[in-house]
Amino acid sequence: MLNTPKIVAIVNQKGGVGKTTTAINLGAGLAREGHNVALIDLDPQGNASTGLGIEVARREMNSYDLLIEQTDLADCLQSSEIEGLAIVPATSDLSSADVEMVAMGHRATLLKDVLQPNRIGSLGLDYILIDCPPSLSLLTINAMVSAHSVLVPLQSEFFALEGLSQLMLTIKEVRQSANPNLGIEGVVLTMFDGRNRLAQGVLADARETLGDLVFDTIIPRNVRVSEAPSYAQSVLDYDPASKGSLAYRALAQEFVARDRM
Ligand code: ADP
Ligand code: MG
Repeated sequence: MLNTPKIVAIVNQKGGVGKTTTAINLGAGLAREGHNVALIDLDPQGNASTGLGIEVARREMNSYDLLIEQTDLADCLQSSEIEGLAIVPATSDLSSADVEMVAMGHRATLLKDVLQPNRIGSLGLDYILIDCPPSLSLLTINAMVSAHSVLVPLQSEFFALEGLSQLMLTIKEVRQSANPNLGIEGVVLTMFDGRNRLAQGVLADARETLGDLVFDTIIPRNVRVSEAPSYAQSVLDYDPASKGSLAYRALAQEFVARDRM
């Protein structure tokens, strides 16, 4: 039987807002809930690949092959230490992909083409999460064109909401061109420090302007979250009882519950 996984692009053109951290830990949370998850590392920096312990020597097949060579997803996936979570790693090769794609006619639909249901339907995947680079480049456009929805991590700091209007504009353009059904999965506040009044303000502003799009689950700033990748672990495994672990587990549950609504 063919089942088509839900494809979610994790996007914010700003760097350091928690995209990769969310990709790894939401992925781990969904796997923990019993889902089969594939994470596609679409950032040439390869932080998600490193954070899941995929050494460079194990990246011969990677997201460049998937995108540019149109190699089957099945051949590019590597298993991780986490049961139920596999990853297509990224290498710096991907940084040239942006330039190479410009010359290609179907440049914006490369990822969509290789993720067609008939090419991935037999893999038994429930979710594909795409960790995007910190830009609205062709790589990110490819992710948004192939995705069912976009999930936006928003760092709880001043100016956080300002970048959102540019992102919303890009989502609108993608809807008008290659992917009319692109949804917005939601906005998740990351690195939240409840003692900081500025962070409280960002939360209030986000809820006022974005309403239900804001996930109820808020990811707190938690040092265990930032330590976990250097042990090639998700925070769920690194420190299961930490606030960061509990928050990402709650996010995974909310994500699935919303999906069913
Ligand atoms: P992006 O992928 O958007 O560039 P990252 O996920 O790499 O952002 O996060 C940027 C930095 O912030 C990383 O060093 C990461 O470990 C740290 N970080 C992310 N989320 C948290 C959190 N909830 N608490 C503490 N540190 C965090
Ligand atoms: Mg990143």
